[in-house]
Amino acid sequence: MTTAHDHRRLGRELNLFDTDPLIGAGLPYWLPDGAAVRHTLEEYIRAAERRAGYQHVYSPVIGKRELYEISGHWGHYSDDMFPPMDIGGEQVVLRPSLCPHHAVIYRSRSRSYRELPLRMAELGGMYRSELSGVLGGLTRVRAIQLNDAHIFCTLDQVAEEAQAALEMIRRTYEALGITAARYRLSLPGPGGKYVAAPEKWQRSTALLTDVLDRSGLPYEAAQGEAAFYGPKIDVQVTDGAGRESTLSTVQVDFHQPEQFDLRYIGADGAKHRPVMVHRSIIGSVERTVAHLIEQHGGAFPAWLAPCQLVILPVSGTELPNAEALAARCADLGLRAEIAGPERGSLGARIRAARLVPYQAVIGAEEAADNLVALRLRDGRRLGPQPVSTVLTHISTLIKAHSTQLWDSAPRS
Ligand SMILES: [Zn+2]
Repeated sequence: MTTAHDHRRLGRELNLFDTDPLIGAGLPYWLPDGAAVRHTLEEYIRAAERRAGYQHVYSPVIGKRELYEISGHWGHYSDDMFPPMDIGGEQVVLRPSLCPHHAVIYRSRSRSYRELPLRMAELGGMYRSELSGVLGGLTRVRAIQLNDAHIFCTLDQVAEEAQAALEMIRRTYEALGITAARYRLSLPGPGGKYVAAPEKWQRSTALLTDVLDRSGLPYEAAQGEAAFYGPKIDVQVTDGAGRESTLSTVQVDFHQPEQFDLRYIGADGAKHRPVMVHRSIIGSVERTVAHLIEQHGGAFPAWLAPCQLVILPVSGTELPNAEALAARCADLGLRAEIAGPERGSLGARIRAARLVPYQAVIGAEEAADNLVALRLRDGRRLGPQPVSTVLTHISTLIKAHSTQLWDSAPRS
């Protein structure tokens, strides 16, 4: 694909990410501007999860083969896994998902019904042995950073948790300025890819169908798209070439709680089996950033932009004012950059910064009165404004994760 907004071309042009044959196919590295976008996105997700009552954990990106034999990945998913490594007579595997680690963390303590729903989240690495022929950019990679979470809960709590996850997805898409192409109820298909437990599939499918029906969202059911352990609600997006991929997902799993013998002590004092809800708000960080690059043509919402404010002193005389403004931006946590006269004429510098949301021009008159002549990425010129007014307004919009550059009063 070579559309105008191919994320691979833009990723290189905008210095976001790149690859090197020496590191390997499907193993991109992130340059400072791409890392700024990724870091901001990850922090947005972590903050949203903290507000929603999730607890974050870290777990290793490898585990013993036995872990994945118990989870079922080894039996149902090994085609997508890297071959095991032999270490001291033990076989260790790069993990194909985070669920087994989280299940083990859950069962590391005795759990009471009072702790449920227990929402465990991690932005963690996982690995997929994609064939080199299909690798490219950030969409098909072998090393994936996944926005993952597992909610351990009672059967009665599943619907509410799944509903809340859908609402988190909706709010996140709004902040990212992206839209879902469609919602898909992903069901198993024929063949041996899926665990054989008809009664569990029926119950989990009924639960997710009910959640979708009550949400009022239009959706389509698709055979052969489920996880091996259970059905999913998948949120699909399309790229510039019309190709569809899954960004977000909500899944119900009765299988792994049983495989790992997960328990909680109920109000009756007896042991009960929790259900696992797997959910991801933005899926893999790589795929989401690829989608954002293509969707916005590199003109990210201001809160995500690698450089949020470019400071343009007309001549060397205004450089001290530019530096003072850059320092104030740094204090406020805004990503600002000075593009001084050594980079060419003012017109050329403005054109070079065309993807930066805010451009603050400082000429002799502005410098004398502590003003900046503000231009917006969309071409609007707001004229001379007090520096404090500009910084307060921009900070407020960015803090609210607004997709507006200036106009609407941001929601807190
Ligand atoms: Zn999972």
